[in-house]
Amino acid sequence: MNIPPLDLTQQYETIRPDVEAAVLKLLASGRYIGGEAVADFEQQFAQYIGTEHAVSCNSGTDALFLALRALGVGPGDEVITTAFTFFATAEVISAVGATPVFVDLEPEGFNLDLGQIEAAITPQTRAVIPVHLFGQAVDMTKLLAIAQTHQLAIIEDCAQASGAEWDGKKVGSQGRIGCFSFFPTKNLGACGDGGAITTNDAALAAKVRMLREHGMPQRYYHEEIGITSRLDAIQAAILSIKLRHLDAWNRQRQAIAQRYTQLLDPIAEIIAPRAVAGSSSVWHQYTVRVEGDRDALKQQLQDQGISTMVYYPVPLHRQKVYLGLGYGPGSLPRTEQAAQQVLSLPMFPELAIAAQDRVIQSLKDCLSPFS
Ligand SMILES: *Cc1c(COP(=O)(O)O)cnc(C)c1O
Repeated sequence: MNIPPLDLTQQYETIRPDVEAAVLKLLASGRYIGGEAVADFEQQFAQYIGTEHAVSCNSGTDALFLALRALGVGPGDEVITTAFTFFATAEVISAVGATPVFVDLEPEGFNLDLGQIEAAITPQTRAVIPVHLFGQAVDMTKLLAIAQTHQLAIIEDCAQASGAEWDGKKVGSQGRIGCFSFFPTKNLGACGDGGAITTNDAALAAKVRMLREHGMPQRYYHEEIGITSRLDAIQAAILSIKLRHLDAWNRQRQAIAQRYTQLLDPIAEIIAPRAVAGSSSVWHQYTVRVEGDRDALKQQLQDQGISTMVYYPVPLHRQKVYLGLGYGPGSLPRTEQAAQQVLSLPMFPELAIAAQDRVIQSLKDCLSPFS
């Protein structure tokens, strides 16, 4: 039996009747774009996150792009973020014509080091994009204080953290604007692409609505250059069903993570992710650090039928497209070390205990073949 990094089919079986009924109803309705399904999901998602507004769009990437555009970030501006994230986080900064400014990671975790933000601020800095990576919330209390002192907008990249909390508040509810992805593999995933922004700022929500619809506040009257970025009605209907299960699924992930951490404790070469006070992670990934040859271990596990993943092998400041920004090797040492060490173990709510035990046994076998 092979163990995949994640398996979406098991989850689908648990909600199949509801999803199929909703999709068939939508197909028969003839209303495929916009309409009640989309409005309902936006309202439910805003309520879940704890914001006044949610505006859906086509992807997490578009959510970030629209957030930057709505805040007026553009050429000549700088946006501070992390280089240890999926490419889209920085890509959108460049796409609006601004410049990403990367700060290094916190000493042990995988989120940006808030202590390095102030040194990175220049007169051009407009915003910070914290990424709640792997489902672990950034310290929003500290970040809000920094942002307030320096008049910076916080755009939260919540793509991997639907349902995660900092100090009892959902990520995406405390910054100026939260950006979510409903890519199928995310904690709240559609059966296709999808995304949303959340905010308490009515004007900002209206601006995103306008920009996602060709800069058109009123049909065929265009005030800005926008894009077309919509959540399909079918995806909205599916997401409304899945949203009802999200907390239970996240609790299952938390139980699996807790068990991983216990079972990994005796394995010296593996550093388990630490719990962070104030943050309740939703474990989008369970990512360990390997002391030793990570790539060899990954291959050995693969040979035993255990698929693991490396998020992310090349940090953004060392990507070909960003070499021109001038971050040389060693410029973000913790980020570069993380890229060498990280290994994400199989993690999805339906991961069986027996499968988890096999992952641990294989790790032990690979790491101490003679004991
Ligand atoms: C997935 C992801 C995105 C992009 O979301 P898409 O829906 O795939 O466009 C952005 N940021 C992070 C951290 C992500 O994991």
